[in-house]
Amino acid sequence: MMKNSFLIVAILLLFTGFAEAETHELVSGRLSLVFNTSRDGIRLVGLKDTGANQEFLSDQPLPLFDLKLLNTQTDEQATVDSNSGWQSVKLTRKDASAELIWVGSKSQGLARLVVKASLELQAAHDRARWQIEVKNGNPSVSVLSVRFPQLKIRELGKNGSVFFPRAPGEVQPGLWRRPFEFNKLYPDAWASMQYLAAYNETKKSGLYVACHDPAGQPKWITVKSSPSEQTVDLRFEHPAADQTRGGNDYSTQGEVVWQLFAGDWFDATQIYRNWVHQDTPWFIGPGPEGREDTSRWMRELPGWLKISRPQDIPKVKEILETIGVPLGVHWYCWHQIPFDNDYPHYFPPQEQFVEGVRELQEAGARVMPYINGRLWDTRDRGGEDYQFSRHAKSAATIDAKGELYIEKYGANEEDGSPVKFAVMCPASRLWQKRLGDIIGELFDRYQVDAVYVDQVAAMPPKLCMEPAHGHTLGGGGWWNQGYWKMFQQIRAKMPPDRVLTAECNAEPFAHVFDGFLSWQWQYENQVPAFQAVYAGAIQCFGRKYGDGPTQDEALRMKAGQQLVYGEQIGWMSPDIVPPNSQNLSFFKKIVRLRWKLGRYFFAGRMQRPPQLTELIPKFQADWQWRDDWVVTSDAVLTGAWSQPQKNKSVLLFVNVSDGRVASDVLFERKDFSPKQTELFVRRITAEKDEEFRPFRPGVPFRVDLAPRDAEAWEIKAVGQ
Ligand SMILES: [Zn+2]
Repeated sequence: MMKNSFLIVAILLLFTGFAEAETHELVSGRLSLVFNTSRDGIRLVGLKDTGANQEFLSDQPLPLFDLKLLNTQTDEQATVDSNSGWQSVKLTRKDASAELIWVGSKSQGLARLVVKASLELQAAHDRARWQIEVKNGNPSVSVLSVRFPQLKIRELGKNGSVFFPRAPGEVQPGLWRRPFEFNKLYPDAWASMQYLAAYNETKKSGLYVACHDPAGQPKWITVKSSPSEQTVDLRFEHPAADQTRGGNDYSTQGEVVWQLFAGDWFDATQIYRNWVHQDTPWFIGPGPEGREDTSRWMRELPGWLKISRPQDIPKVKEILETIGVPLGVHWYCWHQIPFDNDYPHYFPPQEQFVEGVRELQEAGARVMPYINGRLWDTRDRGGEDYQFSRHAKSAATIDAKGELYIEKYGANEEDGSPVKFAVMCPASRLWQKRLGDIIGELFDRYQVDAVYVDQVAAMPPKLCMEPAHGHTLGGGGWWNQGYWKMFQQIRAKMPPDRVLTAECNAEPFAHVFDGFLSWQWQYENQVPAFQAVYAGAIQCFGRKYGDGPTQDEALRMKAGQQLVYGEQIGWMSPDIVPPNSQNLSFFKKIVRLRWKLGRYFFAGRMQRPPQLTELIPKFQADWQWRDDWVVTSDAVLTGAWSQPQKNKSVLLFVNVSDGRVASDVLFERKDFSPKQTELFVRRITAEKDEEFRPFRPGVPFRVDLAPRDAEAWEIKAVGQ
């Protein structure tokens, strides 16, 4: 058998006996990588799917990597890249691996700089795995950041699309012909996972580009189009640990992965899912009954309301009675200090808080007060600097100039000046303890069911430069580790049956929380990639429900999408779903249907959403995320979930429009083993479970949905 995982073709262009330029082709299954080496650099010039005959790289590709460096004596910055300017370079291969080395930059003061890239080829997966190591070698030079990987992707035909990890994940078609830029520091609300993909679904050719970094270290993730060149750049830039400190080195955490796939975002997501499930410390695999360290009530909870005053409690009770299943209540402004002011001095609570918690719990609600997990007001008692400077300041994050990172959120002090918050450093014991004390008091003294911790899984890391905090300066793994330690300590002390949740869905915090508030999932082109990876491992709940002339239509679109995405429904004020309203009736329908199907979401797996075979009308509403925020979707939203261990699947359909919609649906039987020949199907609605009847896969079945209706088709397999 030939060594099909590795092939090298070297074309020697000889000058005075030295190899001036060589071309190397490295092959991993259908994936082909082509490098040109010269005397002073190595260029990546080809990245091809040989099966589909699809070249991905532009004719003017980006350098394989570039480094930003700082001369700590002169404060001058320089950028060097892999293409040229080195004293010597070398590409050596060995079986299914290769090593690329760049020795000694010709730039001033960088003669001792060495970069080594290790490449492993996995032919069975059409995959290339990379690690990069930067040896600085100069005590007066600091590595600030490393850009790798970075790929300039050529247009992938009319049906070309790009996936990137904003909120739950998003797909942008045809980016090559219009201006577009996405650039976020992972981990945060807008860069929740660490992978990108560019693909042509109809050509069945796609490139998956990821950092499989089990430390979840900070990295800038960029997607940037250039319509004039018809290219899209996919880039990861890593702030180095100990940036600005002379002599620091850099090495890839985990590995960088390039891999071919045939299909769309869902297929690319399965590659990432496999890695997350095998190799990350933040993934707690759901057992047969879901995630065991999350209280059962949280796993099952079908929906949420939010309130910010005790006067809303009677309204909540009325809704609970109408809906007839438990709901969570997220309670804002339960404290005497104003919202976004005087943090973190949350105690004492308002007088009605204790009684209100009890009253809501007795009515069947789970009560979850709000706190912020990051901020300390620099004038933390009205306009007075009460504890900040003497107690908290030393544990706050600072920037490269030694100044506090200050954030403002629109609230004002009594004198009209904006409230200025310091961002606390999660590596500091002071902040770890303080947040633990606050949460402990809410659980122990006030007997709340859950505590919501704002911003922790939402805001990007602050690249804190305070040496006294004991962490590496800027980059590194310390930001996540600080929060992990903090919340692991809190969880260890948490009374039984309680729950911790956080804002948004930055993945590295999935194991230290039970729920993520998915309120920012508001994008027209979003796809449920996060749920395809993490459903069951963390419960996602809540969308922001806005105002405006089409708020009722937007409510149906959001609640319907939450159901098919497997989120817990709602998170609106009770005023948005008043008694006897159409909104309440729709909310009730979706919540009750989710209540019946909960096990699919906390112990099952997301499958590819089913396609309706007929042309479905479009539906549109202003979601009011920011200003005018018009979102268009199909009038019928769909989802598919399975419980493989129980040989069951469910297909979900929600008609968010005001008209009747009917269509055929084709169900593929790949969720079940081929031996299981007998299939049965039943229709489930909020009100009724029909009887199972025999079902023939491959034969389309028809859904016929009344206006504002939702139903599920449950399919089970029987037999060996
Ligand atoms: Zn710090």
